[in-house]
Amino acid sequence: MNNFAELSDGAGAQFLVRWRGRQEGPYPAAVIEVKLAANEIGLLHEIFYNGKWVTIRDYIAERETVLRAEHQARDDEDRLARETAERQAIEMEEQRQIALQNEGKFKTTSQIQRETTSTHEPLCRTCEVGRLKKLNQYRMSVPVVVIGYFLLVPSAIGILLNIVGLVFYLIGAGTVVSQSATQDKGIAVLATTLGSGFFLFFLVVSFIGGIFGWLLIMKKKVLQCTHCGAVIAAS
Ligand SMILES: [Zn+2]
Repeated sequence: MNNFAELSDGAGAQFLVRWRGRQEGPYPAAVIEVKLAANEIGLLHEIFYNGKWVTIRDYIAERETVLRAEHQARDDEDRLARETAERQAIEMEEQRQIALQNEGKFKTTSQIQRETTSTHEPLCRTCEVGRLKKLNQYRMSVPVVVIGYFLLVPSAIGILLNIVGLVFYLIGAGTVVSQSATQDKGIAVLATTLGSGFFLFFLVVSFIGGIFGWLLIMKKKVLQCTHCGAVIAAS
């Protein structure tokens, strides 16, 4: 049981006390508490409270109920406030996460855009103004390239002529071999072989010359700035 003074809302409260029609007081709540403890008055004594006489026992029961309800209400309020705060914290965190995700998406999009642009025409790192355009450039200097063409063109013609020549020679030689007398056939075959060797030799020479010429005029892919003309090797 709560003590009487505590139940009675502080020291300021005063009560008239009545027992079998005889009225005393008013006494402060603290005094009534002392008298109860000393058994000078009992729980069946009446006090004047809220405009009517009630037994101290009923008064205590009512006050306990009221205080318990108040306490409960305060607890509920606290819990509600705590729950609201927690919910708000969760909502704020969710919004923060969404904002972070959107930021991430935005970054990804702009990165993709930047990368796409750079794949087409990357920005020049020398002047940082122009764009780098792909172009094919000779690996060798101009005189060497000219020599390369001088080698390549005759070699290509040589290869072509030697192949055609060899084919016609073999057709002609085949006819000669088949028409020659039996005792001359060995000589005819030998002559044909030597003649074919002549064509094959020049075919190989032309081919080697062609390879050298082709090596000299080979090109490489480079990137050249449209603004400052800087050239970098294409990776
Ligand atoms: Zn540039």
